[in-house]
Amino acid sequence: MTVTMRPARAPDIPISYGVLERSDETHDVATLRTYPVAGRLPSFAPGQFSMIGIAGVGEVPISISSPADDDTAHSYTIRAIGAVTQRLVRAGVGDVVTVRGPFGRPWDMASAEGGDVAFIAGGIGIAPLRAAIEEVVRDRQRYGRIIVLVGATTPDNVVFRPWLESLRQTGVDVRLTVDRPGPDASSWFGNVGLVTELIVDAVGSVSRVVQDDNPGDEATRDRLSAFLCGPDAMMMATVVELEQLGVDPDHIQLTLERNMQCAIGTCGHCQLGGLLICRDGPVVTATQLGDALTTSEL
Ligand SMILES: Cc1cc2nc3c(=O)[nH]c(=O)nc-3n(C[C@H](O)[C@H](O)[C@H](O)COP(=O)(O)OP(=O)(O)OC[C@H]3O[C@@H](n4cnc5c(N)ncnc54)[C@H](O)[C@@H]3O)c2cc1C
Repeated sequence: MTVTMRPARAPDIPISYGVLERSDETHDVATLRTYPVAGRLPSFAPGQFSMIGIAGVGEVPISISSPADDDTAHSYTIRAIGAVTQRLVRAGVGDVVTVRGPFGRPWDMASAEGGDVAFIAGGIGIAPLRAAIEEVVRDRQRYGRIIVLVGATTPDNVVFRPWLESLRQTGVDVRLTVDRPGPDASSWFGNVGLVTELIVDAVGSVSRVVQDDNPGDEATRDRLSAFLCGPDAMMMATVVELEQLGVDPDHIQLTLERNMQCAIGTCGHCQLGGLLICRDGPVVTATQLGDALTTSEL
């Protein structure tokens, strides 16, 4: 592939990226590593997304799943659910896509510094969290314990399993759970049940450790920050569980997914309550979200 590097362009102008590598994560999820063919995107922060287009098919929002310190090549981890994502998941090395971005409010990593952090994902929700996890692990002296909780339907549907194993080797508290262990149950050593069932043991113990260090100091409970991505119902249940443990809703961040068209806050397709997800999100705090998920349909 011939690469001509030019300065970064405005985020709303599509530019061409070629597929440099593709990896199959599960039967319907693939990661595409893309590299600029002409021009390049501006730098991004973990949690931001791009609009990825295929000529003649359409354009969809996809989070950047690679670390933010590599701002030239970007990875996108995509689940095939409809016309555009099915084509993207089938893309091969050398195929060219259009990319606009990066868009949206990123994870607020600074607010988590000095405390414990819990990343809680359902299914493909681990993809928008990956760049944030990489950043916390790289700068781990700025944080307390790092916890990663991942739920999937079956072991075969755990996205990034080798990477999660490698995180565990570095001391990150990684816990996996599945709805069903599947036909080969004897080879599954993780939990069976919902990801919310892992929270009390993993996150609750963090709250207790912090409290024991500072008995009677209620503020220490706020030293846990949680980052969530997954289906709406999973995130709602997770917020309830965390709040019951005393985690401050300002310290619970979620990334939201809605059908999106312009990505620059003008078309209104991604409205959720008073929020335009492309502009005010996709990352919001539980406080900002309020009851918008319970009162609105997709
Ligand atoms: C900010 C943001 C980041 C995202 N990041 C990722 C990512 O990293 N990886 C990934 O695989 N997907 C991600 N998505 C979801 C992805 O954009 C949708 O799966 C995609 O738009 C579907 O397009 P399609 O043409 O393939 O399917 P369509 O034919 O448009 O839709 C197929 C079905 O999925 C529903 N649907 C479409 N879009 C969404 C959506 N955004 N949320 C929920 N249901 C939807 C439709 O109503 C329909 O039932 C993200 C979405 C947003 C808003």
